Amino acid sequence: MSVTEDRAALESLLMSRSYTDAELAEATERVPDYRVLPDAAVLKIGGQSLMDRGRAAVLPVVDELVQAKREHQLLIGTGGGTRARHVYSVAAELGLPTGVLTDVGAAVAGQNATMLGYLMARHGVPVAGHDAFGALPLYLAEAHAVIFAGMPPYDLWQRVPAEGVIPPYRTDAGCYLVAEVYGCRDMIFVKDEDGLYTANPKTDRSATLIPRITVDELIELDLPDVVLERPLFELMRHARHARSVQVINGLKPGLITRALNGEHVGTIITAN
Ligand code: ADP
Ligand code: MG
Repeated sequence: MSVTEDRAALESLLMSRSYTDAELAEATERVPDYRVLPDAAVLKIGGQSLMDRGRAAVLPVVDELVQAKREHQLLIGTGGGTRARHVYSVAAELGLPTGVLTDVGAAVAGQNATMLGYLMARHGVPVAGHDAFGALPLYLAEAHAVIFAGMPPYDLWQRVPAEGVIPPYRTDAGCYLVAEVYGCRDMIFVKDEDGLYTANPKTDRSATLIPRITVDELIELDLPDVVLERPLFELMRHARHARSVQVINGLKPGLITRALNGEHVGTIITAN
């Protein structure tokens, strides 16, 4: 079918069918996807794994980001970490629902974005609230980097988890979805371990590093604990753009730069 015929077919289906119609879904699928910011890379700077460690961990990362932005366009998202865990424990003990936990947890990722913003201010790097995402291209053009709070703004509308009240889509998912929606070149999770292990290396000394894995293999393995939020793997399965992510160790100098240069320096997780 020609592009014009495709367009006519899509319009007629949208006018006449229900949104749950299979043919309608298939017709919207036929249009090629458009990458909005294909030259940008999203980096998630871990909350607990990096920010909470203070100067020793954060300042070298800031230096590396400042150097890296000379060559690359960076969208820098922040995690929450220990203070988010604390507020979740207070709110959960009070019997409050997931949507409220999401709201109060988001504030912590925002605090980390604010602090990182003040540290990078002298290098011209701004912080963009979610309302300011329309200006991301301008920030990237002017400053080559911009910081945002990693929590997705689901607030009260956060999906409830199968068990308990902890918000399932937190800052890993929030940063990932930015990479997916904007069709970014890379999604790099900067944490405090060399990548994904067979178990949490902090509690299991026999854990071994998995350098590369697909989401299907990862779900199949059913590991006791994982380095990224589990709902992310489901998001990756349906991704149009962000079909590969890398988890790297931000405590090891140089790895952010190498990952941005396309090197495999941690664990690469791919959709099939
Ligand atoms: P962030 O700081 O981005 O929020 P998290 O602390 O949530 O990061 O996640 C990173 C941590 O995940 C690591 O410090 C590690 O202790 C833990 N972890 C759990 N399971 C694994 C695993 N299978 N492989 C690697 N790390 C794991
Ligand atoms: Mg986390």
